[in-house]
Amino acid sequence: MNIAIVEDESKLAAVLQDYLHKEEYRTQIYSDGQVALDSLQNDLPDLILLDLMLPSLDGMSICRELRRSSNVPIIMLTARIEEIDRLLGLEIGADDYICKPYSPREVVARVKAVLRRTGKPEEAADTALFHLDEATASVTIKENTCALTAVELKLLDVLSNKPGQIFNRSQLMGRIYSDNRIVSDRTIDSHVKKLRQKLESLDSTSHYVHSVYGIGYKFEIMDAD
Ligand code: CA
Repeated sequence: MNIAIVEDESKLAAVLQDYLHKEEYRTQIYSDGQVALDSLQNDLPDLILLDLMLPSLDGMSICRELRRSSNVPIIMLTARIEEIDRLLGLEIGADDYICKPYSPREVVARVKAVLRRTGKPEEAADTALFHLDEATASVTIKENTCALTAVELKLLDVLSNKPGQIFNRSQLMGRIYSDNRIVSDRTIDSHVKKLRQKLESLDSTSHYVHSVYGIGYKFEIMDAD
């Protein structure tokens, strides 16, 4: 597997490279935005770690440009958690976001998770165990079924249709309540809490809906430990 590291701070890039090499990934480091885009467009890696602030062309423009022609997995690295919230609102199409300062171990774990999710065969196996039925407003996991409220059904539908994608609370509210009513963040949190309890009652060995600190929620099937 080839991972492109687009990062202008050479020490950070070198540390990431070391950790990725330990996990048998091959890497290519780019320190300039425009050079990275030109090269990556011609020769796509298996995944791109993309810093936001770069010389000559920023990470957001690179991500947008690549998304015109490719679904290559992209993990954005940004210096501020508020920046992630803004990027989510712009819907530039990155697969995951990591806030600096990060631990290299965390980055490697996220690389593996994104590759697992974007690799087709395993995804099919995962989703076969999870089924959402709109007609009966119910969810089935590993052959156990549970009824959902209208809001829970909508919430789970939005999240599970984009595994791994983080939604902030206002994006979720906009998709769940079509009448533009004002709902507090706490309302979403309490629906998510109840939804999680239901999912856990169906399958206590996996987690499905994850909170992303300071941002919102995402759907990803992960082993509970
Ligand atoms: Ca930078």
